[in-house]
Amino acid sequence: MKHLCLFVLSAFAVTAAPAADLLIEHVTVISPEQSQPLTDRNVLIRDGRIVSVGQQAVAAKGDTRKIDGRGKFLTPGIMDSHVHASDSAGIPPLGNDPELVALRDAYQKQQPRSYLYFGVTQLLDLASFGEGLKRFESQPVKPDLLHCGSAPVLDGYPTAMIPKEVRYQAFPEYVYEPANAKEHPLPAGANEAEHTPEAVVERAAQGGAHCFKIFIEDGFGPASNWPLMSKDTLTRIRAATRKHKMVLLAHANALDMQRIALDADVDVLAHGLWNWGEYDGQPGVPAPIAEHLRKIHARNIGYQATLRVLPGTADMFREDTLKDPMYAKVVAPTVLAWYATEPGQWFKQIMRDGAPPSVDMKIMHGWLKQNEQGMRALKYLNDLGHPLLVGSDTPSAPTYGSQPGYDTYREMRLMAQSGIPLPTIFRAATLNNAKQFGLDKDYGTVEPGKKANLLLLTGNPLESMRAWAQIEKVILHGEVIERESMAANKK
Ligand SMILES: [Zn+2]
Repeated sequence: MKHLCLFVLSAFAVTAAPAADLLIEHVTVISPEQSQPLTDRNVLIRDGRIVSVGQQAVAAKGDTRKIDGRGKFLTPGIMDSHVHASDSAGIPPLGNDPELVALRDAYQKQQPRSYLYFGVTQLLDLASFGEGLKRFESQPVKPDLLHCGSAPVLDGYPTAMIPKEVRYQAFPEYVYEPANAKEHPLPAGANEAEHTPEAVVERAAQGGAHCFKIFIEDGFGPASNWPLMSKDTLTRIRAATRKHKMVLLAHANALDMQRIALDADVDVLAHGLWNWGEYDGQPGVPAPIAEHLRKIHARNIGYQATLRVLPGTADMFREDTLKDPMYAKVVAPTVLAWYATEPGQWFKQIMRDGAPPSVDMKIMHGWLKQNEQGMRALKYLNDLGHPLLVGSDTPSAPTYGSQPGYDTYREMRLMAQSGIPLPTIFRAATLNNAKQFGLDKDYGTVEPGKKANLLLLTGNPLESMRAWAQIEKVILHGEVIERESMAANKK
């Protein structure tokens, strides 16, 4: 017993001892609620929160840790509001082959570090699983992670692509749709009462979900007849999410699917509009697309452009992707080596769909052309004055072309390439994301009372996108992390 008591006491001492204050002196503060940078500020941090952001000198205690901020910029940490932390990019999600298990483990150990490497200090996981969340939380250093519950309609996207033998085991949460009962009956042994909209949303709320995501997708590629939720089911999901005060998001990236999402009164579209249906290939922004975007604006619906979804898949077809020096920073060495092997190219083979490698460039350019529609839609929405969100959808598919942190940065870069001004992107990645999900009490600005999740940059992010790749230090709950210590290839 004596040893146990000592253990308890020492554990208590560790958690009870307050960390010394942190003082960042003479720094330029860039915070989205301010119209101008605040020069020469002294920012005091105590117990993981910001205490003051003033110009006057701070009477520091003897043990206060100090950082000289001269010539540097202090911003809130970035929030990525669309990630999938349970998934391991490019690694098959199913199967217990020891090599795959080891690869997933290496990926998952590096994942939170890669987000921090690119200054992402808050994540919202839009479709997570209990085990994946636990694994993420068990890592020693990680961004703050919030999650949504989610459920496909029975046999619908994204489960439509999974063989039926393992489908309900891989996705135990689904909504039974009576309107589809003939073609999609309840699986043997399942209890209908457990798969009503109310029961599924209730379970998500019990599990601590902050929001709820539905999938409105009747197919892509050759598929176009995946089941959808009926109007009645969508109405019930909306009512249940309101009851639990949950933000309702919809996966929808095609015009007809986004129209259903708007009719269902969702709060946030989890994808941009790049599938224009009968208007595909038209230049500019065709009138029906513009009309739809104006509706999004008028109803104040959150919009995650997710511009990296198609390029992240296209990047598998580029020969230089795995040689990108940034990959060495964000991908665990064993995983990076495996991507280049033949088994590591499995998802590329699926995407080629039997065609020879000679068609790779054609496939890639087709996707990038499609993505330009999403970029034009985003610019149109921004010009209406619509507040944007930053959500990268990392990884959107089992592609190694989508990597944690790096893709948040590349999402922001694609927003800039779409013509979105840098201050607007900054606001989208910080305050807009925090507000949309009801987190602005704790996150999104550099103000007293907020959590001290901050970035010290050597460049000004309102003037150059590259500033986000020039992070010097990440401050997480008041603890200082040197950026390079988070790199996957650090010696
Ligand atoms: Zn997603």
